[in-house]
Amino acid sequence: MFSKSCTECGARTTARPDVYLVARLCTLCRYTELQELNSKTDELVKLDLVCYTSDSRPKRDAPEDTRYRYTKGAVFAFKWEVQEAREAQQTFRKNDDEASLAEWEEDRRAAAQARHKDTHQLSRYIYRVTGSREDELEQIKEQRRTTIFERLKTLAWTEEDMVFKGSEAKPWNALLNAPKVLTERVWTNILPQLTQMLADNRERHTAEAKKQRRSDRRTCIDRFLIRMKYTAHPFEPIFQAVPIGNWGKVLNDVCPVEANPFPKTLTALEWSCLKDLDELELSTEEVEAKLEQRRPEIQEKVLEWRNKVERCLVERFGPDLGGTQDEVILSVNGSLEIASSLPRNTRLLLRADTLFDEEQYDPDPDGLLHFGPEAPCYYPHFISRVTDRLDLSEERYSTCRSKETNPNYFGRDPKTMRVVKLMLQDLGMPDVSHVELNVMRERFMCGRCLDQEPTSWSSCVWHYMEHLESWERQTDPTRQPAIRHPIEIRNPHDIDSLDDRKPLIRLLREEKATEIRKKYKSLGRGPDYMRKHLLDMHNVTQPVEEIHYGRSNHWSSESKAEWNEKWDAYHDALEGAGEAAE
Ligand SMILES: [Zn+2]
Ligand SMILES: [Zn+2]
Ligand SMILES: [Zn+2]
Repeated sequence: MFSKSCTECGARTTARPDVYLVARLCTLCRYTELQELNSKTDELVKLDLVCYTSDSRPKRDAPEDTRYRYTKGAVFAFKWEVQEAREAQQTFRKNDDEASLAEWEEDRRAAAQARHKDTHQLSRYIYRVTGSREDELEQIKEQRRTTIFERLKTLAWTEEDMVFKGSEAKPWNALLNAPKVLTERVWTNILPQLTQMLADNRERHTAEAKKQRRSDRRTCIDRFLIRMKYTAHPFEPIFQAVPIGNWGKVLNDVCPVEANPFPKTLTALEWSCLKDLDELELSTEEVEAKLEQRRPEIQEKVLEWRNKVERCLVERFGPDLGGTQDEVILSVNGSLEIASSLPRNTRLLLRADTLFDEEQYDPDPDGLLHFGPEAPCYYPHFISRVTDRLDLSEERYSTCRSKETNPNYFGRDPKTMRVVKLMLQDLGMPDVSHVELNVMRERFMCGRCLDQEPTSWSSCVWHYMEHLESWERQTDPTRQPAIRHPIEIRNPHDIDSLDDRKPLIRLLREEKATEIRKKYKSLGRGPDYMRKHLLDMHNVTQPVEEIHYGRSNHWSSESKAEWNEKWDAYHDALEGAGEAAE
C-alpha cells in the first residue's frame, strides 16, 4: 500500500492509496475489481457489511455522456467482497436462518467499526511516509519494463498478447515491475515464465474471440427470429376483425397487443436447421444468408413447436364436461366464421373461459424469486411474452428469461373459470375470445360494488378473484377478532347469491367509460366514499370515529385489542340505551 504500485496487480500507478479500502488501485483494477453501490439504498453499505469508498472511482472516459456519470451517493467496493457478502446473506435466507444472519451481520459491522477507527490515523501516516526513494525505484522499474517489452517484441509476441486482464495480470506485472535491474541472468531466468504466460494469454484471447463470434451469430439468429415473430401472427384473423386500428402498424410496433406464441431462441438453437449456424465458424453475413434460405424450414419448425405446446395445454386442460368434444366455437366480433380458420386447439385456448393455473413450479435452483404467471392466466401469456429475447449476459442469470416455460406445469383453473363463465353470461358473450375482450381495454365495470372505475377485462376478473379470496379470509372462523358483538358484513361479489342477481360485470361505451373515469378521479376515496361503504357493506347508518373508521393504517396487537374493547363497549352502551328506551 505504501509503494507506488497497485496493490491488486502490481502495476505502477500514481493513484493515491485508499485508506477505506486499504489499497492502492491502478486505473485498470478500478475498472475490473470495483463495483458501484448506492450508499442511500444498498443495504450492504447502509449496514456497513463491506468495505467501501468514495475516494477510488473508476474513471469514465466520456464525461459528457450522462450515462457515464455516477449517480448521487455512489460508493465503490471490491466486487469479490460484495459477491461474498451477498452469497452469505442469500445462503442464510435460503435456509431461513435469521439468527445466524443477524449474528453474521453484527460481526461484519463490528469489524467495520474497528476499521473506521484506524482509518484516520492511517491516512495521516501515509502522507508523512511517501518519500523520495519511491522515485528512484520507479526509474529502475520503468527501465526494466521497457526492456522486457522490446525483447519480447523481437521474439514475435504482439502487444495484444501482452495485455493481461483481471487476476492473470498479477503474476505478469510482478515479473515486469519487480524493483530490480534486469540483468542477463535475470532475463534468462524469467523468459520461460514470461513465454508460458504469453502463450496462455494468447490462447485465452483466442477463446474469448471465439466466444464473441458465437455470441454474434446467436444475436444474428435471435434478431431473425424476433423479426419473424413480429411480421406474422397466428391470431391475425381475430385482430383483423376487432377494432384495434391498423394491423400492419400494430405488427411493426415493437409490442403487438397480444404475444405471439413463439419458441424461445435457446430452444430454436437446438433445431437442426439452426444448430450448425450456431456452432460453425461462419461470418454473420453467411449466417444471415443461410437464415434467409432456410426461412420456410424455420417457419415449419415454429408451427410444429406451437402445435405441440397447444396440444399439450389442451390435454392438460382436459375435456370440458358437458361440452361437445369436437366442436369448439369461438366468436369474434359476434361471428363464428372469423375464427373457424384457426385450428381447433387454438380456438379452445383463446376462449375467454379457458383459464390455466400453475400447478407445479419449475424446479429451478436459481429461481428463488418465483412470482408465477399473472392472473388471470390466459394462453399464450404464460408461454410467451412480447418482450422475449435471447439474453446473452452471464448464463447463470439468463436462464429464467431465456428458458422455455413448461406447459406441463399448468392445468385447468376451475375456480376462476366458474366466475368467468358467469361474467361472460352477463355480458351476453359466452363464446368470446379473451383477445377480443382485452382489446376493448378499460371499458369493464364491476356490477356489484361502488368503488370501481372502468378497467380492462383481465383486471375485472382479477378484481373478482381478489374480492372472493378476501371474503374467504374475512369470514375464516380462525381469524375473527375477539369481540362479543359481531361485525355485520355483506359480500357484494357473492356469485352464488340468488336474491342479488345484479349483473357481475358491465361493458361500457367508450365515452361513458371516459366520463366515469373522470368522475372517479375527482371523487377519490374521501369521507363520502367511506360513509357509503359503511352503509352498503356494513349497514352502519351513523358512523363513529375510532369505532367504525379511523386514521391508522398500521395496527399493532395492542391497538387491535384496544379497538376490540371499544367496539364491545360501544355496542353494550347501545343495547343499554335501547333497553332503557323500551
Ligand atoms: Zn492494478
Ligand atoms: Zn366489485
Ligand atoms: Zn368495510
